[in-house]
Amino acid sequence: MRVTRLPRDPGPAGWNRILPPPDPPDLLRDAITADWLIVGAGFAGLAAAHRLAQLAPGDRIVVLDAVRVGDGPAGRNSGFMIDLPHDLTSDDYGGAVSADVAQTADNRRGIALAGEMAETYGLDPEAFAMTGKINAAATARGDAHNRSYARHLTAMGEAHSHLDAAQMLDLTGTRYYRGGLFTPGSATIQPALFVRGVARGLRSNRIALHELSPVIALERKGVWVATTPRGRVSAPRVVLAVNGHLNSFGHMAGRLMHVMTYASMTRALDPSETARLGGAARWGVTPADPMGTTVRRVSGHGGDRIVVRNRFTFDPSMEVSDRRLSRICRAHDAAFAARFPMLDGVQMQHRWGGRLCLSRNNVQVVREIEPGLFAACCQNGLGTAKGTLAGALAAELALGIDSPALTRARQADMPRRLPPAPVARIGATAHIRLAERRAGDEL
Ligand SMILES: Cc1cc2nc3c(=O)[nH]c(=O)nc-3n(C[C@H](O)[C@H](O)[C@H](O)COP(=O)(O)OP(=O)(O)OC[C@H]3O[C@@H](n4cnc5c(N)ncnc54)[C@H](O)[C@@H]3O)c2cc1C
Repeated sequence: MRVTRLPRDPGPAGWNRILPPPDPPDLLRDAITADWLIVGAGFAGLAAAHRLAQLAPGDRIVVLDAVRVGDGPAGRNSGFMIDLPHDLTSDDYGGAVSADVAQTADNRRGIALAGEMAETYGLDPEAFAMTGKINAAATARGDAHNRSYARHLTAMGEAHSHLDAAQMLDLTGTRYYRGGLFTPGSATIQPALFVRGVARGLRSNRIALHELSPVIALERKGVWVATTPRGRVSAPRVVLAVNGHLNSFGHMAGRLMHVMTYASMTRALDPSETARLGGAARWGVTPADPMGTTVRRVSGHGGDRIVVRNRFTFDPSMEVSDRRLSRICRAHDAAFAARFPMLDGVQMQHRWGGRLCLSRNNVQVVREIEPGLFAACCQNGLGTAKGTLAGALAAELALGIDSPALTRARQADMPRRLPPAPVARIGATAHIRLAERRAGDEL
């Protein structure tokens, strides 16, 4: 089976660009055999490799990725590993709460696993830190959303606290926010530093990881045979950890939604600028309205910078043009100027976009899709935690090791079918536009 489409990520992965250049890539150049092949070196693929190395020591594990580690979506995100569901459900404190509790437990297992990898592979503290998370509110509507969210947290028995405008100012240096909702269970990562560090750790654990080695065909000839432009891997068991590119391998056609979101990162601030900005050296806020702007202030590798993320577009082709990227990123300049008037004149150095894969019914695809072919895909936009768990669960599924999380994953429905393509495109685009307009100053 030929792989119909290879990943193309718009713009440079800023988080990766501010790190020292990586070692030269190790392309697959031979025909090799392995016990396991993992396709994709994002959160899911790296976690699958880590878990397999733990559970099947001595097995030969090969990981292939089309791009450099840290250049794909895993190195392009805002770095929030979130434990709580985005939208806590309804006032039905019966079944709905128990579903939210189960989802939270699963996300926390993903975060714990990421923490374990950070420790095992000796990652820099900037790569992974248990920081908690603040949902920042800029508007009365955002504030009301935070208060309603807090009521659901109380029903779940989850710790949380409110920050007022003065506390938000102390933390962020900006007067833009009227309040915030802090929850302690999330982690924050420097995404490229994290995935590159885990990849380095896996290699030192004798796992072969070949970058710039896209799988262009995958066939079952007794064992699975994956072909790359210069080599071939034969393995009885394969984990597809390619998120939305599961479609490109011929699976879940018409069931996955491909959405892009976008980020911009300033150049490094100089000491006079950080003094004008004030606030803490490192912080991050997610928007109270999910369609709003995520902001991070970073300090470490690459200096002191601000990163903003907003806007979504529905892109079934999984690609966007450079022209569209620069048009969309104007929303970043507006969000930055509104929040940081004291940094007037500071330019963005890196702008990029990245792919998300969603399903209409918010389910992941963690299952054996053909004999010996396992999927750990469709992370519904929260792949740092959910992808990490999905990869580990795919490894456990392949080895027949059961757990409550795996049972939940196996019992999940199939992603619900999308309407016919033109209807899906018009419907999804209109929905996103309307929701973004409603977000108002949260954007
Ligand atoms: C701007 C932005 C901000 C985001 N912010 C957050 C956030 O704060 N928190 C959060 O949880 N999520 C966030 N996300 C989403 C998150 O990045 C994804 O959900 C996550 O990367 C998915 O992980 P994954 O391992 O499943 O897939 P990916 O990270 O997409 O990894 C899949 C890998 O498969 C490789 N691949 C695909 N096809 C092939 C092939 N044929 N051969 C070889 N390799 C192949 C790709 O190159 C890729 O490296 C954000 C995304 C973006 C773009």
